[in-house]
Amino acid sequence: MCETTVYLVVPCYNEEEMLPETFRQLTQTLDDLIRAGKAGEGSRMLFVDDGSSDRTWALIAEAVQNNPRICGVKLAHNRGHQNALLAGLMTAKERADCAISLDADLQDDIGVLGEFLDKFHNGCDIVYGVRSNRATDTAFKRNTAGGFYSLMKRLGVETISNHADYRLMSRRALEALSEYDEVNLFLRGIVPQIGYPHDVVYYERKERMAGESKYPLKKMIRFAMEGITSFSVKPLKLISNFGIFISVLSVAGLLYALISYLSGVTVPGWTAIVSAIFFLGGIQLLCLGVVGTYVGKIYSEVKQRPRYRIETAQLQ
Ligand code: UDP
Ligand code: MG
Repeated sequence: MCETTVYLVVPCYNEEEMLPETFRQLTQTLDDLIRAGKAGEGSRMLFVDDGSSDRTWALIAEAVQNNPRICGVKLAHNRGHQNALLAGLMTAKERADCAISLDADLQDDIGVLGEFLDKFHNGCDIVYGVRSNRATDTAFKRNTAGGFYSLMKRLGVETISNHADYRLMSRRALEALSEYDEVNLFLRGIVPQIGYPHDVVYYERKERMAGESKYPLKKMIRFAMEGITSFSVKPLKLISNFGIFISVLSVAGLLYALISYLSGVTVPGWTAIVSAIFFLGGIQLLCLGVVGTYVGKIYSEVKQRPRYRIETAQLQ
C-alpha cells in the first residue's frame, strides 16, 4: 500500500459554475490514484478560495461536509492566483509528502496526474507540467506566450517554456519555496531556482468548461512584467546602455551643428529641435518608468506585508 500523502492544491476565484464538476472529476481521479497505489489514503484535495465574491466558499464548505477527502482554506481577500496558490502550498507543506497545483477549471489534463506521481516515486522533487501544444489558444496568445518565454530566456531568467503552474513539488521543495519571502510572486521563476531533481510531464491543455477566464489580457501583461522585473535587472542595464548610445549620438549631432554653423549653412532648424525634444523626452520618460517600476517593487518588498491571510480553514 502506498504511504505517500498527496495534496492537490486548487486556487479558486469565483468558480461557482465550475466547482461541482471539479469536485466530481478530481474525486474520481484521486480515488483512482489511491486504488492504483500511487497515492496514499491520507491524500486530499485542498481548495483555496481566493476571496471570491460568489458562492465559491459555500460550495467548498459544503463539499468538505460531504467528502472526507476535500478540505478548504478561505483567504480574507482576493490576493491573486499566485498568492492563493502559495497559501495552499504552504498549508499542504505541513501535511503532505508532495503537493500538485492545478487550476479549478481543469484545463490542465488531470489524466496525467499518475505520471507526475510516477516521477515523484522515482526520486524527482519537482515535476513540471508542460503543454505539448497550444492548439486551444488563440493565435494571439500563442505568439505572445512564445515571445514572452524567449524574452525571459534572453534576459537571463530560467523558466520552463510552456509550463504554467501545473506542477508537483515534494515536501522538501515546498520547504525550500517557503524560504523565498518575496511579495512580488512569480512562482514560475522561483521554482526552477530551487534546483532539486526535476522532470517534465507533457499534456494537452483543454478549453475552459464553464465560467470565464480570470486572466484577461491586462492581467496577463501585468503578470509578464512581474516575471521580468522580479527576476532580471537587465532592463535597467539596457536603458543605461541606450543612454550611452544616445549621448554618443548627441555628441555627433553637436559636432554636425558646429560644423554647419562654422561653414555658414545654418537653417532655421525648428523641426530638428522640436523632434529632438519630443524624442528624448519620450525616451527619458520611458526609462524613468522602468526605473520607477523597480523602485516600486523595492517599496512593496521592504514593507514585508503578509502575502495572504487565511480567514477560515477546514482541514481534515
Ligand atoms: N484565480 C485565483 N485568483 C485570481 C484569479 C484566478 O485564484 O485572482 C484562479 C482561478 O480560479 C483558476 C486559476 O487561478 O483556478 C487560473 O485562472 P483562469 O483559469 O481564469 O486563467 P486562464 O486559464 O484563463 O489563464
Ligand atoms: Mg483557466
